[in-house]
Amino acid sequence: MTEFELIRRYFTRATPSALLGVGDDAALLQVSDGNVLAVSTDMLVSGTHFFPDADPFLLGHKTLAVNLSDMAAMGATPRWATLAIALPGANETWLEKFSAGFFALAQQYGVELVGGDTTRGPLNLCVTIFGEVPAQQALRRSGAQVGDEVWVSGTLGDAALALAHLQGRIMLSDAEYAACAPALHQPQPRVALGLALRGIASSAIDISDGLLADLGHILAASQTGAEIQFAALPVSAVLRACLTPPSLPLSGEEPSLPPDKGGLRGVKLLQQCALSGGDDYELCFTAPGARHAELLGIAARLKLPLTCIGKIVAGLGCLVHDAAGDPLNIEASGYDHFR
Ligand code: ADP
Ligand code: MG
Repeated sequence: MTEFELIRRYFTRATPSALLGVGDDAALLQVSDGNVLAVSTDMLVSGTHFFPDADPFLLGHKTLAVNLSDMAAMGATPRWATLAIALPGANETWLEKFSAGFFALAQQYGVELVGGDTTRGPLNLCVTIFGEVPAQQALRRSGAQVGDEVWVSGTLGDAALALAHLQGRIMLSDAEYAACAPALHQPQPRVALGLALRGIASSAIDISDGLLADLGHILAASQTGAEIQFAALPVSAVLRACLTPPSLPLSGEEPSLPPDKGGLRGVKLLQQCALSGGDDYELCFTAPGARHAELLGIAARLKLPLTCIGKIVAGLGCLVHDAAGDPLNIEASGYDHFR
């Protein structure tokens, strides 16, 4: 198969909303009246962001999902994408599944693939996404005000929990792994929430490197601090269950859980996953307290939990309180490729 057959077969679909899509030296795109382009790039590197033998359908999904998440965080409507892909070879089974996962999500969000680049090399996936937003309504990191409430969508820490299991840092039962694995492999970008937050949120970011790290970016950009209640963090049932040691087996049954290898079960694991785990792809945002009820209405309409976890305060940095109101001692504060 030649490079061009590969592009035609796996990465060329109809692009009715582009003036010109795949096949020329550049795509031609017309932004709707009154909107500006929101542009973002996210790269997934084999061995760093995913295991080399990752399921290709899910990888196709995630490659686009992490980019859609950036559009959500800006309050932008995703419209077009380009895909730069380095492949060790033209494995047709792999390509078939990867492109099926990619286009299934693209279709769900009305995103058209309008171009890209294809080369041979170590597996590497890089999407640039283009969205639209009225300039004044874009959700920036810099708008948080003292007194605003801090919110997060969905639940935190499930993806980090699944990763800890795959890396052998903790052992989950099959049922536990099944409950948290979708968060790692098939994150759902919060695009509808991002759109609903236009005109309501004062700042927003998507949580890709852990709540503390990403909220930290809002605080730095807004020149404010935050106080967060650890007990208020939305944590899934499976992660919450890891707070307690595995229950004793019923008589005659095999133990439901192998012994905890690293001694990581317990409150420390919960803290690490919920505060510093990566790959959540939920939104963290701030909004004036006067919008509280409206936000709960949005949560109900979108069938997506929205949880107020604390407040923006004067000063810099983030203080996390435990249930007794004492400051929590935080060890790691998120993933950083160069630390
Ligand atoms: P050029 O040599 O001008 O950079 P290429 O030969 O790299 O063009 O690509 C030919 C066409 O195919 C271009 O329109 C490009 O945008 C598109 N394309 C290349 N790779 C991909 C891909 N992985 N997904 C979608 N479109 C692609
Ligand atoms: Mg090229």
